[in-house]
Amino acid sequence: MDAIGDVRAPHLRRRRGSTASGLAPRRRGHDGSVPLTYDVAIVGAGVVGAAIARELAQYDVACILLEATDDVGTGTSKANTAILHTGFDAKPGSLEAALVRRGHALLMEHGPRLGIPIERTGALLVAWTSEQQLALAGIAAKAAENGYTATRPVAVGELYDLEPNLGPGATGALAVPDEHIICPFTTPLAFATEAIANGVVLRLGAPVAAVVSTLEAHHLETATGPVAARWVVNAAGLHADRIDRFFGHERFTVTPRRGELVVFDKLARTLVGRTILPVPTATTKGVLVAPTIFGNVVLGPTAEDVTDRTATGTTAAGLASLLAKGERVLPALLREEVTATYTGLRAATEHSDYQLFVHPDARYVCVGGIRSTGLTASMAIAEHVVAGLRDGGLGLARRTAFHEIRMPYIGETLTRPFEDADRIAANPDYGCIVCHCERVTRGEILDAAAAAIPARTLDGLRRRTRAGLGRCQGFYCLAEVARLLAGASGRTVSAILGVEP
Ligand SMILES: Cc1cc2nc3c(=O)[nH]c(=O)nc-3n(C[C@H](O)[C@H](O)[C@H](O)COP(=O)(O)OP(=O)(O)OC[C@H]3O[C@@H](n4cnc5c(N)ncnc54)[C@H](O)[C@@H]3O)c2cc1C
Repeated sequence: MDAIGDVRAPHLRRRRGSTASGLAPRRRGHDGSVPLTYDVAIVGAGVVGAAIARELAQYDVACILLEATDDVGTGTSKANTAILHTGFDAKPGSLEAALVRRGHALLMEHGPRLGIPIERTGALLVAWTSEQQLALAGIAAKAAENGYTATRPVAVGELYDLEPNLGPGATGALAVPDEHIICPFTTPLAFATEAIANGVVLRLGAPVAAVVSTLEAHHLETATGPVAARWVVNAAGLHADRIDRFFGHERFTVTPRRGELVVFDKLARTLVGRTILPVPTATTKGVLVAPTIFGNVVLGPTAEDVTDRTATGTTAAGLASLLAKGERVLPALLREEVTATYTGLRAATEHSDYQLFVHPDARYVCVGGIRSTGLTASMAIAEHVVAGLRDGGLGLARRTAFHEIRMPYIGETLTRPFEDADRIAANPDYGCIVCHCERVTRGEILDAAAAAIPARTLDGLRRRTRAGLGRCQGFYCLAEVARLLAGASGRTVSAILGVEP
């Protein structure tokens, strides 16, 4: 990986040694330089770590967000089902239930302003057996216990009126009107972008390999050099247990729960209006069929415990089991083209609830076990963590000015650049479509290369623009997209393609 360096907002770039808040730096190096002791170091720039960074950016603290990989949101946060859950089926009384409910509200409030595509589809939790039909009333009662009272029973006749392409044999459903779909890619990028716009330093390519703690600070060893911070927030997803052990704890182990998914072509989108959920079991929410924010239909995920924390490949068995389930729920779906398959790993532990602990004495916060609802709960987790930091003694004075950001819109419901005549008139690059499947323009690719957190790889570009995400998966546009990104980012085409020796 070539050097990435710290990412800071241009208007906040400053002399080495000054803190984000302008406070005096707390430690001096042996050579007389003034390396910072940050107030807070957050480990992991997934949706959870990025949300925490954004929340902290509202206060006058020096904060660094450390990410092992070369971009924000490259872990579990980029490979999920992308449902903005109401939390209707969470375990009542659990921390997860409370944070999912609050996270749903926060994303509904802030998501549109941040440019995060969110679409209200609603969901139908469909029963296919008499046992499942009987379970629906209990699920509605559980939803009410979780503070969500808008569910309603749907009789079988109405169910087939609403979703005429459902397979035969459904006995009824529970409507959950406030389930939404959301863009999993924009969300962490928006949080991280707003965080750095307000003084947080983002350091990519910086895996935390060890931590030495003294009374004064924690010293984190990373591939980019040491980082000192008074507080550490562990948001390392699949590796949160390992970071937790650096602080002397042995309280949970992450066992990745693999979830495979199949994405169907946009022509399938008319087959289904809402998210079709199964009746959940103790271990999984089950296999759903859902519209995506990009106008496709997704089928999945599977749920299989694995030992390998990098096992993000799909399997023949997993895909076969999905297709069998999909055929029962929406038979016509199986006649549509498959655009892509992908796999995400849930950071499951031996505990059913989030593993969120604040240790004021050690100035350490653990945010582990954020299994299958972290996208929804991210902003609420951040609120909870920052409250814990304040209660733990971190002085948090609100910044007088907060720079709001808005991400380029990549969903399907608002106007995109290729259809915006005024924008094209002002800059013809927005009228020049490069990725035809997803209608991504030259202007958007150049913008992504010049963004505050720039796209540096095809994967990064895909998550910022949709380029290469469509039916041809880059077959037609890859060369031109790579050439454009290379030219705009000053990298070689080989580096962009990830084929450098
Ligand atoms: C199949 C599937 C479906 C899902 N569906 C939904 C859904 O519909 N709705 C929903 O709300 N949630 C869903 N989720 C859950 C959601 O995706 C996760 O809860 C969320 O993405 C977790 O975010 P995170 O930031 O904790 O983890 P991650 O995104 O994995 O981020 C952790 C980051 O930490 C970095 N890191 C790790 N170790 C280190 C280290 N030593 N030093 C520095 N950095 C490090 C990693 O590189 C990574 O970028 C689903 C998950 C899966 C797998």
